[in-house]
Parts: sequence; C-alpha cells; structure tokens
Amino acid sequence: MQGLTILGSTGSIGESTLDVVARHPDRFRIVALTGHRQVERLREQCRRFQPELAVVADAEAAERLRAGLVADGIATRVAHGPEALVEAARHEDAPLVMAAIVGAAGLPPALAAVEAGKRVMLANKESLVLSGALFMEAARRSGALILPVDSEHSAIFQCLPVDERARPQTRGVRRIVLTASGGPFRDTPREALAEITPEQACAHPNWAMGRKISVDSATMMNKGLEVIEAHWLFGLPPERLEVVVHRQSIVHSLVDYHDGSMLAQLGNPDMRTPIAYALAWPERITSGVAPLDLVSCARLDFQTADSQRFPCLELAYRALRTGGTATAVLNAANEEAVAAFLDRRIGFLDIPRLIEAALTAVEVQAADSLETVLAADRRAREFVRRRIGEVA
Ligand code: NAD
Ligand code: MG
Repeated sequence: MQGLTILGSTGSIGESTLDVVARHPDRFRIVALTGHRQVERLREQCRRFQPELAVVADAEAAERLRAGLVADGIATRVAHGPEALVEAARHEDAPLVMAAIVGAAGLPPALAAVEAGKRVMLANKESLVLSGALFMEAARRSGALILPVDSEHSAIFQCLPVDERARPQTRGVRRIVLTASGGPFRDTPREALAEITPEQACAHPNWAMGRKISVDSATMMNKGLEVIEAHWLFGLPPERLEVVVHRQSIVHSLVDYHDGSMLAQLGNPDMRTPIAYALAWPERITSGVAPLDLVSCARLDFQTADSQRFPCLELAYRALRTGGTATAVLNAANEEAVAAFLDRRIGFLDIPRLIEAALTAVEVQAADSLETVLAADRRAREFVRRRIGEVA
C-alpha cells in the first residue's frame, strides 16, 4: 500500500486522480487532500477516502469542514493556509504526491514535496514556468522522482528512455514535438476573437478542465507554458521544442530521433491515462479510459500553429529565450490577465497585450533564489493590475 497526498484534490485533475485511485484500493491509500474553498466537495472526498489530513484556504472554511466531518463521524484532521499545504506535501505517510493546484499558489507545496524526496506527480506546470531551474535542482539534490502528468509531457516521457530515477535521456533526439488541439477558437476568424466571452473560452472541444487552463488553451498560452515545462523536464533548448496543431487530440506528443524514427504516444483525450502512468510508473495499471479505436478515429490532422492568431505562444518562447525571471513574469502576468478576463474586466485580446507589456516593462534578473522568483511574480502582478485599473 502506498500513501498518497493530492494537492488540489477538488479540481479537475484531483478528481480524476481519485477516480483512478478508487479503482486500486489494494495499491493506494489517501493520506492528505487539499481543496482550498471547495469545502463541500472536500467533505464528500473525506467521507469516501478518510484521509488523515484535509487542508482548506482559511479558518472559516476549516470551521465549516470540521463541523461537517463531525456530523459525518469522520476523524480527518483539518488544517488551513499555505503552511498546512506544505505540511500535507511533506506528510511522512505519503511517499506519493500529486501536485494539482492551479497557478503559482501550487509552487510552495510542490517544491516542499520535491525537497522531501517524494515521488512527485506534476500537473502544476506553473511551478516549472516560475522556477524550473530551482525545482529541477531541488529534485537532483533530494533524489525526488518527477513524473509528468501533463498529457504532452507524459507522452514524451513515454517515448524516451528513462533511468531508474525516472530521469529521461535525450541522447539521439533531434527535437520534441508538442501537439496542441488549437483550443475552441482554432477556426474562429481573428476579428471575432475580441468579442469572446469566458463561457466560450471555457468550452474546450476535446478536454474538460479547470477554468484557468481552459482559457490558457483558448489563447494557446497553455502550449507556451508547456514548451517551458518541456524545456525543464527534458533539457532541450527552445529551438528544439516545436508545436504542431493536431485537432483530434489523439497523438499527445512526439519525439523525433536523429535516425529518422519518430515515436508518438496515442490515446483518447482523458487525463486518467497520464495520471495512472505517473501513479504506477514503471508499471501500467487500469485507468478507466476506453481503449483507442483507430478505425473510428480514422483521420489524424497536423497543421502549423498560427502565431498571428495566438501571440501568447510566441510570448512564451520569447520569455524562455530571455531566461532568468522572464518566465515568472510571463506566468504571473498571464494569471492576472486570465483572472480579469474571467471576471469580465478585460477582453480576450487584452490577455496577450498585457503579457507583452509586462514582459517589456518588468526587469529581468537571474532566477537564482525562490525570493527573486517570487519578487518577479509580485512585480508582474502589480504591473498588470495597475494597467487593468487604467484600462477599466
Ligand atoms: P481546477 O481549477 O479544476 O482545480 C484547481 C485545484 O487547486 C482545486 O482543488 C482548487 O481548490 C485548488 N486551488 C485553487 N487555488 C488555490 C490556491 N490559491 N491555493 C491552494 N489551492 C488552490 O484546475 P485543474 O484543471 O485541475 O488544473 C490543475 C493543474 O493541473 C493546473 O496547473 C493545470 O495547468 C494542470 N493541468 C490540468 C489539466 C486538465 O486537464 N485539467 C491538464 C494538464 C495540466
Ligand atoms: Mg497539456
């Protein structure tokens, strides 16, 4: 039996993880769950999985959860706040940690899990975008295993030779090709993009996801963040990381080798496949995902990504080439802009405009400590908030 903590258990990835775990009660035991403000959902999860610890955002949410669990007769301990997230990440009964909090808020607990030498299943790509160098260095020092959960990175990981510490080897690789669905607006005329609503942006054609990543998919910033994530996970420079649009989301990414071989991983678009792989690596376990029916897929299309329509992708490459804290600025500006878009305070096309302005205005430094990175994150957020205040 392996103990498992899920950071962000009430989200889309968190719930898919619990779905896989529930299929293997002889293999995994839930030790800690965290749910921020989704108290009722977390209460249900505690009833079902009986963790030792449950973490929420603040004292008020903790009181509500405690009262609910007492009424249910569940002995789960309740804690709150960022320190409690770190406590959950380090919990000594849980050698496995799923890092599935959304955004920069996920970094401190994910990093704590890495420093504690856990097997870290990484969905929170923002951690690597903010502080990839520090994160990977911490893993080298502690011996933590990092298993990618993002479907593209799981695909690449599955197409590369990997050592016993789950470290991918890229000798003989020409380039890595990340596939992108193109999101809900891949065929929308550019003039119509200005009027996009949050509801339209969150209606992804192939994947059901949280709201922030859904907007990121619609702007293609998600793919930009994934290019940066791939750089840190696989150690290739930006010019050897390519993106192609593949609308069916069946080929999850590819590795192109010098000898002319190209390896791909295929499957139905369902996050339970990469989650199950990260949970059981190097073994394979059932995930609840239906087998891929090649004949009913019939067609697989590939196109170049349109950087006119999707400037966010180019902005991510630019930040990666700049290096240092530029990717932290990119990430923070994006989070602020996406939140403002979801609140209807700015338009869809203001998202790339604000990020570009932040990349130009906020000074870049070497990303040599967590403090420097978090300071860059703060400066970029302040810059974007001020700009939005001026626009609105
Ligand atoms: P979601 O919005 O559905 O869930 C987010 C989780 O984080 C919830 O449990 C929420 O309670 C928690 N949370 C939110 N803000 C928090 C804060 N400030 N402090 C602590 N906890 C907080 O998001 P999701 O779609 O499950 O995505 C989670 C992560 O996985 C993201 O980094 C996303 O980029 C990545 N990811 C998601 C998918 C997907 O298919 N959903 C695919 C690949 C990668
Ligand atoms: Mg992805």
